[in-house]
Amino acid sequence: MISAAEALQKLKDGNQRYLANESTLPSSHDQQRNALVAGQAPYAIVLGCSDSRVPTELIFDQGLGDVFVIRVAGNIATPTQIGSIEYAAEQFGTPLIIVLGHSHCGAVKATLAQVQNPGDIGSPNLAAIVEKIQPAVAPLCSHNHDSDETLEQNAIRANVDASVAQLTADSAVLARRVENGELNIVGAQYFLESGIVEFFD
Ligand SMILES: [Zn+2]
Repeated sequence: MISAAEALQKLKDGNQRYLANESTLPSSHDQQRNALVAGQAPYAIVLGCSDSRVPTELIFDQGLGDVFVIRVAGNIATPTQIGSIEYAAEQFGTPLIIVLGHSHCGAVKATLAQVQNPGDIGSPNLAAIVEKIQPAVAPLCSHNHDSDETLEQNAIRANVDASVAQLTADSAVLARRVENGELNIVGAQYFLESGIVEFFD
């Protein structure tokens, strides 16, 4: 398995290829699909948002077997997401986790709206997502901001940072791997406008 630094570089390079429209993925997936039947060894784990505009493999120009992806609205880290990540880290020795937020995130916007103007969300399932994001973004709402855009941008960053922190706070498995130098966790944000992934490393 490659190092966390090498894994991060591969994702950065892949995003550059995506931006330059210079994909190196094969036009046929047959060979790689067949080769992977026996097993997988993904070099990175990505906890990203379900938003259809942020497809992980596309924006990093990665193919079959490259990245172990968990997508959930608002890139939140609840037990089922953390369990999925623990599985990959332990099973494959994957050295890098990226928590990937993005601009114009509907889940973050909905949470900001709920904080500023509390109301009945209706579905308890949707409420569970908002309640998970709320502690990270609510403190921002009490500060003065230049604009709604600044508040939203700060909230997206705070929500990514919260998920990064939760991965080790809520998982002894992941905390141990980080402590042993076997795992690195990095926050990042994808910009819908430019296609650029900015890493917070
Ligand atoms: Zn989103």
